[in-house]
Amino acid sequence: MRITKKTILYIIITELFLFIILPSILLGINGNFHKAPDSKSPAPEIFTNKIQTPEYINVYRHTYGVTESIPFEDYVKGVVAGEMPSNFEPEALKAQAVAARTYSLSKITRSGQGGNPPAHPDAPLCDDTHCQVYRSVYELKSLKGDQWINEDWKKICDAVDSTKGELMYYNGQLAEQALFHSSSGGHTENSEDVFASAVPYLRSVDSPYEEGATHQQETKHFSAKDFAYLLNLKYPGRNLSSPINNIAVISKSTGGRVENIKINNSTYNGRELRDALGLSSANFQASINGSTITITSNGFGHGVGMSQYGANGMAQKGSNYKQILEHYYTGVKVY
Ligand SMILES: [Zn+2]
Repeated sequence: MRITKKTILYIIITELFLFIILPSILLGINGNFHKAPDSKSPAPEIFTNKIQTPEYINVYRHTYGVTESIPFEDYVKGVVAGEMPSNFEPEALKAQAVAARTYSLSKITRSGQGGNPPAHPDAPLCDDTHCQVYRSVYELKSLKGDQWINEDWKKICDAVDSTKGELMYYNGQLAEQALFHSSSGGHTENSEDVFASAVPYLRSVDSPYEEGATHQQETKHFSAKDFAYLLNLKYPGRNLSSPINNIAVISKSTGGRVENIKINNSTYNGRELRDALGLSSANFQASINGSTITITSNGFGHGVGMSQYGANGMAQKGSNYKQILEHYYTGVKVY
């Protein structure tokens, strides 16, 4: 091949492209794809209202009838063990740790302002569902055995230790009502649709990854007689009588729970029906077939705040604990 000026120019241009221009494009111009922010970048937000967690907390132990002083972070570990299945993803366990820690702090703060709950006047928290379920490591060992302590308890401790002292804040204040529930059935609820007041960070959000949840599409059958008996037992003034000829949902909440339902000529709210019939959720459908009333409910619990199964599903899809908390508690920040 005859080497001409044209060939040399062609080689130079090709080399330039392959070894200088192309790498620059792939790495970012000048290779500074991940360069540090320059002096003109805004300064990171400095959070100044961080609350220090206490070293110890008083917890009323129902089983023993005593108030026990427990190292605070050990208490959080015992709550995560009591409130969430230990086979959940580490990021879900971390989200539970921050929610439980935040809830506990709010109880301590309230205790300082207006006293402890009448149910346990010597302690801001107790160890059962009245507050949060707590189990000590000794109780867990005798309940679940050595292997659980070596594997699952260690996993819980790692999750709590890695979020040590972290709390949720809304507008710079402690997010006092860090409520959670087992599963929502697909959508969580606005707080005012279930409880008395509207809390800005307890908004109805989608909870799309609850595939592994218990109490999905849970069906219960009642004879018309039993159905009327159970409702009259709980709400005697209504005098519902069988046969049941008509059940019609009148209204539903944003998250899909039954607000009002008409049964024959009486109107009940969904929560009343849930309580009277022992349903897992007020997210249900009802139908009459002859003298049998069939109710299919979805989800387990009140449906406000973080769905635990939803949190585990998000973790399985790659979300970290802060992303999980920021999804279920609208507008909160974790510090
Ligand atoms: Zn309590």
